[in-house]
Amino acid sequence: MPLFFCLFFISLNAQDIYPKDYFKNPLDIDIVLSGSFGELRSNHFHSGLDIKTQGREGLNIYSSADGYVSRIKLSHYGYGKAIYITHPNGYTTVYGHLKDFSGEIETYIKNKQYEKETYEIELFPTPTELVLKQGDLIALSGNTGGSGGPHLHFEIRDNEERIINPMLFGLTVKDSKSPEIDGFYAYPLNDTSHVNGFNSKQKIRLTKLKTGSYKAANITAYGQIGFGIESTDQHDLAYNNNGVFKIETTYNGVPNYKINFERFSFDESKHINQYIDFEHYYDKKKRIQKLYKDLNNPLSLYKSTLKDGIINVTENNAHIYKVNVSDYDGNSSEISLNITPEKSTNIIKEEISKTNKFIKRDEITELKANHISVTIPKYTFYKDVTLDFKVSGDTVSITPKNKALTNYITVSFDISNYKDKDVDGLYIAELVGWNKFPSYSSTKRIGDIIYTKTKTLGSYTVAFDKDKPSITPLNFSDGKWISNHKTLELKINDATTGVGNYRATVNGKFILMEYDYKTKKLVHFFDDNKVTDTENKLKLIVTDNVGNSSTFEATFFRK
Ligand SMILES: [Zn+2]
Repeated sequence: MPLFFCLFFISLNAQDIYPKDYFKNPLDIDIVLSGSFGELRSNHFHSGLDIKTQGREGLNIYSSADGYVSRIKLSHYGYGKAIYITHPNGYTTVYGHLKDFSGEIETYIKNKQYEKETYEIELFPTPTELVLKQGDLIALSGNTGGSGGPHLHFEIRDNEERIINPMLFGLTVKDSKSPEIDGFYAYPLNDTSHVNGFNSKQKIRLTKLKTGSYKAANITAYGQIGFGIESTDQHDLAYNNNGVFKIETTYNGVPNYKINFERFSFDESKHINQYIDFEHYYDKKKRIQKLYKDLNNPLSLYKSTLKDGIINVTENNAHIYKVNVSDYDGNSSEISLNITPEKSTNIIKEEISKTNKFIKRDEITELKANHISVTIPKYTFYKDVTLDFKVSGDTVSITPKNKALTNYITVSFDISNYKDKDVDGLYIAELVGWNKFPSYSSTKRIGDIIYTKTKTLGSYTVAFDKDKPSITPLNFSDGKWISNHKTLELKINDATTGVGNYRATVNGKFILMEYDYKTKKLVHFFDDNKVTDTENKLKLIVTDNVGNSSTFEATFFRK
């Protein structure tokens, strides 16, 4: 290939490969973010932009480009009411936590929901069923599913279902502030390396200079060392913290690490737990982003890193380590660190706690005592670990809890010693918090075994739920006329194991009801036009997660 072409390809960076004017802002208002792409969340990187909707629901949401509705998913959790639009250029845009869909789409969904008699549904319309032009109204913004406040979750995916930072397509957010760096840490990475005489993680003091850059306190070090930072970015029109876009480091002027949040796949998102210092996060609730590629971390977010970001301090080299953190608009902050090489013969090591089970990373492990067993699949941990495994009565504890798991482990209890009449209400609870509150862990049963799959170490026990769900009408009562009501509303709750499912009928015919687990409200909209009689007998059955069920019946009148 002629040299000319090689240079051309080298200069093509990611910003240039995505079309810039293709997708338009899906809202009428300027984009202000409550969450950025790649932002650090629990067990995942954020896969889209969380666009603020002025603190309320009901803003118009438009198709970002020409295309067709290729997928619709309504779920009580996750993205809530979500719509996927596939565009002729191969990309798909996703809009989540919606309140309502616009006319034609809403009718399409309702028909399928009544046909299948379910609220939760996933549909894949064909390319000719729901065709859209750029700017067509598709929905109203909402707060459905696992949303902690009204906003639009907006994603752009490529034709391999990889999520791409929507900012790369030319969307703009006002941002003139540099990222903040709240913490800086050094990690000795093997038995002989050390920082300030210690073989364990050391926090390095930072001083913010007038220029916005940071001076780090000098350290002494020897051997293989990695670093980590706590860092966030604020935009101009809101005070919440977002994630940063890019982090680069140099050692003695040579680039040795780079990560940026351009694109990733859903299946790698869980490896955030190896990207951050998980133990620190568990113990301190703060996320240190490691500036080196740690063991068995397959994240594709790393770009051309030299030695995976690890530096090797020896007695005869010069030592300046720099970190540069930038946001999407290129505002950046820098740390400069001077390292004095100093080989210590008297390294202070962290005490290793006495634990009783050694888990080899590449083997299946079965821990068993009495009637309880724990199965740990291969490659559950990022490295070999030692765990405490204790069984006492009906409770098992697997600790320490600050280890990141990449697979589900299975915790099983043999319940053959329980009396038959008790067996139905049994479930597995995780004991959480200082008061060891029993929290329902999704429980399955095969014969005399009940089991749960979990990615959280800790204590699990057998618990018993004999309580039926509660059902309370909110805007009507038995025998009343409610001709002017637009909705029929009830509150349903099951304090112990949660609502498993519900089904409502009027005069024997299914009616659609929407459930919001956050408010525990169950709502029917009369404009579905399914309640057409004058005298209406409502029957609602709510079942909890172990099968206890309650039935509510009432008659209401409409004309
Ligand atoms: Zn989101």
